[in-house]
Amino acid sequence: TSLSGGAPARATVDLDAIAGNVRTLREHAGDAGVMAVVKADGYGHGLLPSARAALAGGASWLGVAQLPEAMALREAGIDARVLSWLHVPGTDFAAAIGADVDLSVSATWALEEVAAAARTLGRTARIHLKVDTGLGRNGAYGADWPVLLDAARALEAEGAVRVVGVWSHFVYADAPDHPTVRLQQERFAEAVREAEKAGCDLEVRHLANSAATLTNPSAAFDLVRPGIAVYGLSPVPHLGDPASFGLTPAMTLTANLAVVKRVPAGQGVSYGHQYVTQRDTTLALVPVGYADGIPRNATNVGPVSVAGTRHTVSGRVCMDQFVVDVGPGAEVHPGDVAEIFGRGDAGGPTAEDWAQATGTISYEIVTRIGSRVPRVHV
Ligand code: PLP
Repeated sequence: TSLSGGAPARATVDLDAIAGNVRTLREHAGDAGVMAVVKADGYGHGLLPSARAALAGGASWLGVAQLPEAMALREAGIDARVLSWLHVPGTDFAAAIGADVDLSVSATWALEEVAAAARTLGRTARIHLKVDTGLGRNGAYGADWPVLLDAARALEAEGAVRVVGVWSHFVYADAPDHPTVRLQQERFAEAVREAEKAGCDLEVRHLANSAATLTNPSAAFDLVRPGIAVYGLSPVPHLGDPASFGLTPAMTLTANLAVVKRVPAGQGVSYGHQYVTQRDTTLALVPVGYADGIPRNATNVGPVSVAGTRHTVSGRVCMDQFVVDVGPGAEVHPGDVAEIFGRGDAGGPTAEDWAQATGTISYEIVTRIGSRVPRVHV
């Protein structure tokens, strides 16, 4: 392996896997299109390469949380439909409208700011009205929904906005059988009916995240909006691993061992000596730490494959490094490859294994891999 600028670790991202995962999601989506969610730097996989790979796999839309993410897609020349959905007052909506970015609107303040920006430009903003069907997060709730609809219709009449979408988000990203799912779906269908009755000429109605896309075809409407599955991770690990859904994990995090040394039994390892060797053994130093997104609470539990054999983090995870007791007979050398997580074939650990070992979800494992770790797209 040639080291990227001398960096001791790297996240290798398989773009064919991303394209293939989107093809799989398209099959699940039936007649609906796929909006690949590429927010948060493509869930840590790299915004632009992930977006291009998703489009190559047949996504027709891209979804992001923040406007700067949408603008970065446009500045890179990506002209697919993009929806940006999490805005605060004072956002540069004129830039968004000028760049033909679709905007989510959840509240009247946003409607007014988007319309004002559109008037200044002499253009019509494309908006997706978000309804809160139960998540209690973004979206117009209860009696605010008809109020938002009426206000949007008035601005449509004026030509400032066009309501092209109605959308919502599920409470359960990992429990497609929860009764709330059906309830939200019914509320969503009702909100769509109300929008159509009010006169909105909708292009797209969208509700489904990865879990719903893979397990609940009735939630697909016109467009599904998967994120985690695009990157090949299972949204429902208790129901199936990626392979069982036809998905391939795209990211593999590896590092080269910096130090290998023999120590006697009874040697404490790393800050606070949370691990003590039980026998004369070999320690290997893996040069990634919590500054790179390795959870500090992986101390003594994080799985890692060193030179092809599975081991566990020994002692505290530090800012830049952690240690692995690879056993007395290990034939390992500085420069050998440690795989922190990857596809999980050949017995190596996965992002899901890390999530379970550290009490979180695979989403957090991949999105928090730090900017110091180069992404190598293959
Ligand atoms: N839609 C919205 C509004 C989201 O915030 C997210 C991610 O959190 C997604 C879709 C994609 O969800 P998932 O990664 O579970 O498929």
